[in-house]
Parts: sequence; structure tokens; C-alpha cells
Amino acid sequence: MRGEREFIRLIEHRARRSSPDVVVGIGDDAALIVPKAETCLVIASDVIVEDVHFRRRYFPPQALGHKALAVNLSDIAAMGATPRYFLLTLGLPADCEDWFADQILAGILALADQHNVVLIGGDTSHAPERIFIDITILGEVTRSEAVQRSGAQVGDLIYVSGELGDSAAGLAVLQNQASTGSLHNTQISIQAAIRSHLQPQPRLKLGRILAHRHLATAMMDISDGLSIDLARLCEKSSVGARLQADTIPISSAAQVISSRNRQSPLQLALHGGEDYELLFTVSPQNQAAVTQLQTVLAETGDSVPLTCIGQIQPVQDGLQIETLTGIHPLEIKGYDHFR
Ligand code: ADP
Ligand code: MG
Repeated sequence: MRGEREFIRLIEHRARRSSPDVVVGIGDDAALIVPKAETCLVIASDVIVEDVHFRRRYFPPQALGHKALAVNLSDIAAMGATPRYFLLTLGLPADCEDWFADQILAGILALADQHNVVLIGGDTSHAPERIFIDITILGEVTRSEAVQRSGAQVGDLIYVSGELGDSAAGLAVLQNQASTGSLHNTQISIQAAIRSHLQPQPRLKLGRILAHRHLATAMMDISDGLSIDLARLCEKSSVGARLQADTIPISSAAQVISSRNRQSPLQLALHGGEDYELLFTVSPQNQAAVTQLQTVLAETGDSVPLTCIGQIQPVQDGLQIETLTGIHPLEIKGYDHFR
């Protein structure tokens, strides 16, 4: 196994990009950036830890790198901001071979280039037994355009991008929890679900446009599951919400996998995490503008469905879901690290 110095030199070499506002990148005690006037810095960090967020057995290293950066980009998207730079802290145990670490780095840098973000520093450490990849990302946004979780108003429509349950379905397949034997006729959707889990695509363009056009009153990304993340948004906004069960977009892989496992696909869409879609609220008068936005996105080759799944209610009504059998309290389940 090569030494830390050698690996850092390799990172420095591979990550070198010319960017006029990066005065000093990797190689000094700290990075030096010229901040853009009149914009807010947006800063977020997210870590992924082996055997907590992934298992080496089913996660290719390049995908691991992609995902570590994608989850951070998703936080920037959820603020309506543009990502610019990031710091990378790697913890590598002795049994993580050089090629594996190289592939992690390759996955990170490929996605970074796709979104024009520059690696400006970080830290590298030996770790006992388990890999961790910790990224801190910096972005920028005009103050008046930043979208917080706290802006939802009673009467606002609740929207979600994409289709839910795909990542959880992909994970189930990867973990062999689903019986894969007779899945060949739905192979394409299963492959897509595995990709959603391994290499989620952050909704940067959507987040930016929603913010720029002042369409989203509140926004966040769905990392732990729709139910728990909606509960968080509502708590920050001091409001309640009612979801319409039959409008929630469920991925076709989620439908296949849940029927194999005799679960309801709705449960997977509501409580399965890691979809990294955007959850946002819109004033009813802007409904047509959101519909039109879908056309705009499709024309730029970034087609994504935007679905209205419910409405914000007064806080005293709490969180509800309307199904064929009536209105019920929304069960809040999802990923919680400390439970
Ligand atoms: P220090 O001793 O000050 O912690 P290091 O030797 O760890 O410095 O790092 C040297 C340079 O390499 C620094 O600019 C640091 O930001 C960068 N660096 C170290 N590890 C990484 C990494 N995993 N990714 C990107 N840059 C890194
Ligand atoms: Mg260091």
C-alpha cells in the first residue's frame, strides 16, 4: 500500500483544474478563494461510512465516490444554490487497496467535472476497519433566491420531483432481499433502480430554476424518506400537511420489488430513503408556472416529472394522508441514525 504523501500527491495531480477564483487549491495549509461579491456562501457537509451507509460487497468504488459527492450536491440543490468547491476527507483502512481508493477518487472527480465543482483540499487519514468519505461543499446563491425549509404557507401545494422508492428498491435488489429470479421482464427498471441507489443524480438545475424564479416557498432534498423529510419541512415552517396517496409518483422498480416482497409500493415511496429528489412547496397561483417549468427542463435535456402530491394545512391539523379509505394520520418513518 502506498503512503499518505504519495496518495495526496496523486489527488493533487488529478484534481488540478484552473479556476480564476481559486488562488490556492490543494497543496498549502489551506485553500484560498476570492469570494464573489453580493452572494451568500452556501456550506454543507455529508459523510458516508462503510457498514452504515454502504457495504463494500455490493458498492463499486467509483459509484461510492459518485454518491459521496452527489449527496452533498443535493443539499446545495435544495437551497437553490450553485455548487463551486469542495473539501474531501478520506478515512482508509489498511485493507482498502490502492486501486479501490483510486476508483473512489475517479468517481468523485467525474461527477465534480460534470457540475463544474473544484476539489480545493481535504484530509487523508488511516481509519480502523471501515472506509469513510466526508465531503464539505461550498456553493453560492443570491440572498433573495436562497430557499429554506421554513417558508411553507398554509394552502401551498406540495411537489416532489422524479419518482420515489427507486433507491430503496435498488438497495433491496443489491442486498438480495428481493427474489430476483423472475425479474427479467422488468430488467430495465430494476437496472435503473440499482443506478438510482448507487449513483443518484442531484437535481441541481431544477433547484436553481425554482429558486431563481421564486417558485418554491420552501424546499429540501429527500434523503431519509418522504414522510420524515416532509415532517421536518413542516416543523421548520410551523405548518401541517395533507398528502394525496394516489398522486404520489412511485417508481416502477418500487412497484415490482414491493409486490415480490408483499409490501405496499406506497410504503416504499413514503418511507424508503435516499431518493435525493426535491420536495418543495408552491403558492397555488404558481401552479401553471411549475407545469411550464417541466417543459423548459425537458427542452434543455433535463426532463424530470414534477408532481403535486398534497397541500400545506394549518399546524393543528398535523400530518395526514388521504387514501381511498379516507383521511388518516401520516405515519412518520424513515432513516434515523440514532434509533
Ligand atoms: P496538513 O498536514 O496541514 O493536514 P496534509 O498533508 O494533510 O496537510 O495536506 C496537504 C494538502 O493536501 C492540503 O492542501 C490538503 O488540503 C490537501 N489534501 C489532503 N488530503 C486531501 C484529500 N483527501 N483530498 C483533497 N485534498 C487533500
Ligand atoms: Mg492533513
